[in-house]
Amino acid sequence: MAASLVFRLHDRGPEVVREVLLERGWEEYDQKEREEEDWNLYWRGSAFRNSEYHNLLPWQRLNHHPKTIGITRKDCLARNLRRMRATFGSALYDFSPTAFILPNHYTRFLSEYNNLRVTRGPSVYWICKPVDLSRGRGIFIFEDIKDLVYDCSVIVQHYISKPLLISGYKFDLRIYVCVKSFHPLTVYIHQEGLVRFATEKYNLSSLRNLYAHLTNTSINKFGPFYKAAKGRVGQGCKWTMSKFRHFLHSQDINELLLWQRINNIVTLTLLAIAPSVPSCPNCVELFGFDILVDVTLKPWLLEVNYSPALTLDCQADITVKRGLISDLIDLMNYTLSDSMRERACWRHGYKRLCFRAKRSSHVPTPPVLSKFEVTKIQKRRSGGQSQTLPLIKTLRQPEKMNQRQSRQHASGADYQRRLPPVDSNQIYATRGRLANETHRDKTLNLIFGPCSRTVVNRRTCPALAPHRSLCVSEVTSHDDAETEAETERSGEADASCSIRDTPHRELGFRRSKLPNIDSGSHGAVMERTPGLSGQHNPPLRVGDFIRTFPFNATTLRASRHELDVKVVIKELHKLTAQLATPGERLRREEEEVKKETDGEDFDALLWGPKDPPLLSQCFKPT
Ligand code: ADP
Repeated sequence: MAASLVFRLHDRGPEVVREVLLERGWEEYDQKEREEEDWNLYWRGSAFRNSEYHNLLPWQRLNHHPKTIGITRKDCLARNLRRMRATFGSALYDFSPTAFILPNHYTRFLSEYNNLRVTRGPSVYWICKPVDLSRGRGIFIFEDIKDLVYDCSVIVQHYISKPLLISGYKFDLRIYVCVKSFHPLTVYIHQEGLVRFATEKYNLSSLRNLYAHLTNTSINKFGPFYKAAKGRVGQGCKWTMSKFRHFLHSQDINELLLWQRINNIVTLTLLAIAPSVPSCPNCVELFGFDILVDVTLKPWLLEVNYSPALTLDCQADITVKRGLISDLIDLMNYTLSDSMRERACWRHGYKRLCFRAKRSSHVPTPPVLSKFEVTKIQKRRSGGQSQTLPLIKTLRQPEKMNQRQSRQHASGADYQRRLPPVDSNQIYATRGRLANETHRDKTLNLIFGPCSRTVVNRRTCPALAPHRSLCVSEVTSHDDAETEAETERSGEADASCSIRDTPHRELGFRRSKLPNIDSGSHGAVMERTPGLSGQHNPPLRVGDFIRTFPFNATTLRASRHELDVKVVIKELHKLTAQLATPGERLRREEEEVKKETDGEDFDALLWGPKDPPLLSQCFKPT
């Protein structure tokens, strides 16, 4: 039967998410028409409630992990990065401007302010930002402390006063980061971010001119020069990342080190919270990292957005955000069985029994629904879909369940893909052949799961077929499809503010009973690493999402079970040193790494360049 996946958008959600999903053949959740659990993806701009994580069913996905406020609120980010700096050294955690949370750290700030006045003179600039506002609201820049006036909790940060300019205009980079899983940590960065420009020329003698100093679109689109042609920047205030790459090439700027540094910033920032985020399978998170590049090409982290804006203001937005959402859906790894929600009640009831049975080691039987439940389903189905009757029968007559089902239940494999096993040699032979080919998929989507393969036909299962060009070897697998949709608030908001009141709760997630969409149990396309036998590696790329963590065999191992932050940081050090150090030392370090990871063939791509090379190629000594 043709699969349809169902999404829910909270508060009508971002329109681009609706458009992309409808185009892919999904259906929108309608409370009046559907059961409460009858959805696959729930998307919202603000935080989910505790109970929503706890009640998540195997075919459902949420677009937020719990407890990520540690990096998405300005004061929490400042606090966490300070802690990491104290533990792992300021040489590594030197990518965010020094920040003070006021009023709490006023004395510290005062002492730093006075020190700098003595050592560097008056030309040190500061920026003051309310901790729980976004979109540039309430921000001002000052040089003299007498101009610092605030009536709410703020952070005061060193102002990066020498930013890289294009035709005299300041800009920052919006990098889209998807954390597919915190346990094990699995991170993807999208190739197509945005470059956001100020709309008046940068000038330190007019600190009050927000059109010159802030790069928020929400501010600049109302600026008097928004529509004017502005040198190389052109009209408007946004570029795609591709255009920015062209610019770098035209200036003979070596971009590799810049991308690798941004990559490191993302990883190091996530490491600050990863150990404390509860494991919540079937959640993904799309963060917006704001990066400012200074004249020396050093990238600085300004903030991390919890719900990056998804409004479509201009052509650059359309190009970037539509592709981004489409790739994100592919990354969520929906599979055929996820779409079988009409059997949700049956599965749900069965699942409970199954888990009880695990403890008592009895073969579980499917649940017998109450008369009320059966009537409810019949009522919902009236309109006469032919599937209804057999379903109800199955529900009412568990004893007639066939042997195969019983076996599945007994093994607790209720969500396993029902697909023919495939010879893994065949998979890898095919992968090898296709690894470097990019396909504009027309009718087929090849899906490689760890132990099975299926072909999704776009005509019969439109919702499961990827819609963008994908490297076949890296396409998400779709044999157990399932999603939920939830609304996101206004797409306009970078909604770090929306979680202002989220209490710090102890969330007891560790729901081993749910298949993790990252673990392969849901059929994600995994690579196999011979040296780590039996373990499946997350795909290198999905659409324009490039996997940036784990980036080698050591970090893969360090991210399994309890995340070993120290080991990861050591590896990041090595990687950066390799990029910056040519010649003999690099060769020796490479040999050292090779010895450590002997036999473990784990490749990673360098995020950033349009056609990303393998990291191992980048670091080959010439
Ligand atoms: P908001 O959440 O309100 O957008 P941000 O921290 O992103 O707050 O700051 C808004 C804008 O201010 C940024 O896009 C950037 O242009 C500018 N900005 C913020 N912090 C700094 C800084 N430390 N140095 C220079 N410019 C900054």
